[in-house]
Amino acid sequence: MPAIPDLNRDYERRPYWHATMPALPDRSGKPLPESADAVVIGGGYTGLAAARQLATQGASVVVVEARTLGWGASTRNGGIAHPGYKWGPASLIKRYGRDLATQLYVDSVEATELLGRTIRDGGIDAELRFNGYMELAWSRRDADDFAAEVRPRTEWGTPARVVPLERITDEVGTRAYHGGLAIDTGGVVHPGKWFAGLVGLAEKAGADLHEGTHVTSVRRESDGWFAVQTERGAIVARDVLVATNGYTDGAAPSLRRRIIPIGSYMIATEPLPADLARELSPTGRAYFDTRNFLSYWHVSADRRLIWGGRVSFFPTTVDKTAKLLHRRMLEVHPQVAGYRVEYSWGGKIGMTFDRMPHIGRSGGVMYAMGCCGSGVVLLHWLGTRAAQWMGGAAPPALAELRFPLVPAPYEGRPWFLPVVGEFFRARDRLAARDKVTPPAA
Ligand SMILES: Cc1cc2nc3c(=O)[nH]c(=O)nc-3n(C[C@H](O)[C@H](O)[C@H](O)COP(=O)(O)OP(=O)(O)OC[C@H]3O[C@@H](n4cnc5c(N)ncnc54)[C@H](O)[C@@H]3O)c2cc1C
Repeated sequence: MPAIPDLNRDYERRPYWHATMPALPDRSGKPLPESADAVVIGGGYTGLAAARQLATQGASVVVVEARTLGWGASTRNGGIAHPGYKWGPASLIKRYGRDLATQLYVDSVEATELLGRTIRDGGIDAELRFNGYMELAWSRRDADDFAAEVRPRTEWGTPARVVPLERITDEVGTRAYHGGLAIDTGGVVHPGKWFAGLVGLAEKAGADLHEGTHVTSVRRESDGWFAVQTERGAIVARDVLVATNGYTDGAAPSLRRRIIPIGSYMIATEPLPADLARELSPTGRAYFDTRNFLSYWHVSADRRLIWGGRVSFFPTTVDKTAKLLHRRMLEVHPQVAGYRVEYSWGGKIGMTFDRMPHIGRSGGVMYAMGCCGSGVVLLHWLGTRAAQWMGGAAPPALAELRFPLVPAPYEGRPWFLPVVGEFFRARDRLAARDKVTPPAA
């Protein structure tokens, strides 16, 4: 392989989405109400979706966000909107039995449809492109496993097909993988524009939104209501939803012991020529690979290669991660060498010990979190379902899963991540022993 060219250093250290989304008005410093039917902690997709639904159901609802709305992962992500979970169909069935596995997967398909419908019906310009997505096999074994996924995925509502190596460039401009699984559901969205649209929908429905309002504790009162203590005063509420995902802190100690914050990082190139963009992504899909240290990417509406990955489990900086991501990007797409990187950024995902999202109640307080890296579709839906559950509807199937504790002494600082990271890195290396040698062009 030719030497990887150096990365330019004059990129902006902020999310590309922030540079291209509508500015949101400042909602800090507004007086807090003394009471509300519901308080939602966390102003991302989960919190805003829940607030919108609660307000639509007629509840008075207050969203309290420690920083600014969307400051968390909701305006930092890769914009890949896909059904399914970390576990593929066979593992879902093995873990939960066929009936529950089917329901869980079908719910994720419904979640994908809800996202598309909300954006279209809301008239939100979010660059939504539902051209499907593709998983790319890092090892030969991963490619072999794809065949068994076609039937359940198709039966569960997401038509899928194996793309063999000989046909791979019909779908993606790389030969760095052993093959692919193309799934014709979901696709990509501009995360920031979608978030701004969702804020508008929540506010229009009547939700009361507050920024710069850090919640420090939630206490149950003798009458069953909750006192939500913030640094700016307390709000008393009948219901509380914790929607803090990878940013969960000491305000919800029992949840913090279940959520592992992990950094995920991204870069965006300058706009690419139209023929190169078409070569990289002939059908406009989103992509991710099967590594533990996964990469995920798509070509944006303005033809930038938006490239993300879990490149470090150590505390790091966006300069270090930009370098690692740039190298990875060029290993997969050497065609992009010579094009500048214009943005580099990162954010936190909320990993869980069973690698599944969770919704439920802890001490009466509701929670919806644990995206494990895939929350664009699922957490918007889970926020909506949490609100419906508060309003008396049945809980979703995910509520049947026990939310496991991290089995280690742990209070939110994931000291064990570097060790876990090295373990996964070694597994990726082992899986890559039979790596495809790219055929000469
Ligand atoms: C770099 C990156 C790439 C990603 N790519 C994808 C992708 O392509 N596809 C996909 O499906 N998912 C992706 N994700 C995951 C997805 O972005 C998240 O699952 C989703 O945004 C989570 O939304 P949320 O509302 O639950 O949490 P967040 O958007 O993270 O919001 C949580 C909020 O809670 C606030 N908060 C925390 N504690 C308190 C407190 N005590 N008081 C008040 N407020 C508090 C935080 O300030 C934060 O704003 C990615 C994530 C990252 C970081």
